[in-house]
Amino acid sequence: MADSDAKQIAKFIEPLRVKPGSDVDLTRDFDPAYKAGLVTKEKSEEVLQRGVAILSAYQDRLAAQDTTGLLVCLQALDAAGKDGAIRHVMSGVNPQGVHVSSFKVPSAEELSHDFLWRYARRLPARGEIGIFNRSHYEEVLVVRVHPELLERQRLPAAAKGTSVWERRFREINDWERYLTDNGITVLKLFLNLSKEEQRLRFLRRLDLAAHNWKFSVNDVQERRYWDRYQHAFSEMLSHTSTDHAPWYVVPADRKWFARICVSHILAHTLMQIDPHYPTVTPEQKRVEEQARSELLGSAAPEG
Ligand code: ATP
Ligand code: MG
Repeated sequence: MADSDAKQIAKFIEPLRVKPGSDVDLTRDFDPAYKAGLVTKEKSEEVLQRGVAILSAYQDRLAAQDTTGLLVCLQALDAAGKDGAIRHVMSGVNPQGVHVSSFKVPSAEELSHDFLWRYARRLPARGEIGIFNRSHYEEVLVVRVHPELLERQRLPAAAKGTSVWERRFREINDWERYLTDNGITVLKLFLNLSKEEQRLRFLRRLDLAAHNWKFSVNDVQERRYWDRYQHAFSEMLSHTSTDHAPWYVVPADRKWFARICVSHILAHTLMQIDPHYPTVTPEQKRVEEQARSELLGSAAPEG
């Protein structure tokens, strides 16, 4: 990887990173239609391929070492393109080293545990990339927008009340600090879709037979809470973008641009981890030489 590529990528993704400690107002601070001067999807194909190629090379190195794992959390409103981003960006990587976990409405068993329990069970091992399609951040998003969901969590009285979100932010930050201290890098991506683009995508799902299966009445109902979600997202970004586990806000109105951003942010993170193939020790070298002589000496008789 040329140094200039690494610098270019770092510069490209810098405007998307949420500065730790900043007071984010999503609508004011981030434009869902931003495209960094790239003009069209066709011209951008090469850029996407660059990100995917770097990702593929670095994932191979990540899988070969056994110290660091990478957790990628994807959050978004419905129709923002989470699934498509995962599919495209991961197209070049070895599926054995990647696990995708999707988090839906919690089960009775999950609700009978502490709120981070179900996410902790899906963490990547060292050498792996774990993708959370929705994540522990649902606990300060959908659960905040619909307070009745918090009621179902059977919390002790002292853990409820107005300070619950501040406390959850702290607990999430502490948990992510613990993970990064122990070798699991945490990366968080928020796909930022505009209200108008979401409306158009829902209509397309209704109009096009091939897209109809993706339509859910529930999604349109959730859209009525748009402003409350924007507030919850702003709060989440303000309180949980840290130096050790930063948030990136990915402009999602153009799917092709969102995919370029996701692949480059991942590539940048892997370059920072900088995984290396294990080096062969003199003892291993000796054993390998022995194996070679044995194999050479046991060739099958001719015929
Ligand atoms: P897609 O619709 O593309 O298949 P999705 O991620 O939207 O993917 P759905 O099954 O439609 O999957 O929705 C999952 C639902 O689960 C979302 O509405 C989400 O808000 C909800 N959910 C996730 N985590 C929690 C949680 N901790 N508490 C309550 N609801 C949650
Ligand atoms: Mg859905």
